[in-house]
Amino acid sequence: MRKTVVVPIAFLFLAIPMFAATKVCIDPGHGGPDPGNSYNGIVEKDATLDIARLLRFWMQQDTADTNGGGGTWGIVMTRDSDIDPGLARRPIIANEAGADRFVSIHLNAATNTTACGTETYCQEGLSDSSLSCIFRGHIHDQLIAGLKLIDRGKKKKNLQVLRDAQMPAALSEGGFLSCASDAAVFKNSTKKTEAALSHLFGLQMHYSITPYVPTLTLTNQTMTPVSASQGWWRHYKINVPSGQRTLTITLSGGTGDGDLYVRRGNQPTTSTYGSRSRNANNEESIQILSPQSGDWYIGVYGSKDFSATSCKARYSS
Ligand SMILES: [Zn+2]
Repeated sequence: MRKTVVVPIAFLFLAIPMFAATKVCIDPGHGGPDPGNSYNGIVEKDATLDIARLLRFWMQQDTADTNGGGGTWGIVMTRDSDIDPGLARRPIIANEAGADRFVSIHLNAATNTTACGTETYCQEGLSDSSLSCIFRGHIHDQLIAGLKLIDRGKKKKNLQVLRDAQMPAALSEGGFLSCASDAAVFKNSTKKTEAALSHLFGLQMHYSITPYVPTLTLTNQTMTPVSASQGWWRHYKINVPSGQRTLTITLSGGTGDGDLYVRRGNQPTTSTYGSRSRNANNEESIQILSPQSGDWYIGVYGSKDFSATSCKARYSS
């Protein structure tokens, strides 16, 4: 009897992420009268809301992007403005929404200003093999890879938001605002995007999805700043109307070495593309004459780490 019940439930659990949106509750720490930590010109409640909104944006892009990899996400926020829902209310918002995962975003501080680096938490008392602690580990690994700050480890603590969440839950402390070098990271909008993407990659890994940067749609505009690590892509697409004489895609500025790949109809790879430009810097340009109408995919690939470059796609008739 028990066996016949257990097997279909296990199957259903594995099958759900493939067919339905995975609902994630994002909890930007602090807010309203509770500023959290405040050092080096950064207030925790503002930075956590910035990162949470960026995470939501990239999860929405990931859901909209049906061309490559990535996942399908439903998103609930415990706050989307400068308010404090209260510690007790935050996990209740996730519980009432029936969220599959809960992730709380914080930034650390200590009186010792030499304390620096990233640490992540699951609820005290849970085993390392619990889904909460596994989830914590996936986010931690991606934050370490993305922000490259000191690795202070995967930790456990008795925290109300983790304790009261009825779904697997983790809390990130991306860096120490009291540490000058960490604070500089969280002042930088590119790095805040990297922090948000690290949470997205952690979620993707947690659901057995290869970490994937979603495609952004460009409309005759410049995308800036564009940054990625060696071996990683930033994906864009532009919809070209019929009757255009040229489609020009350029990469310029910044540091490191990003390469440009363009392909009509599908995302380019390093082996399958329509055109590519691979100089030993970020100065790349591709012009297509009389481009066929439709979606053109632009890939900026990290031949080496590159940062703060601009990608421009423009058609003209
Ligand atoms: Zn905090």
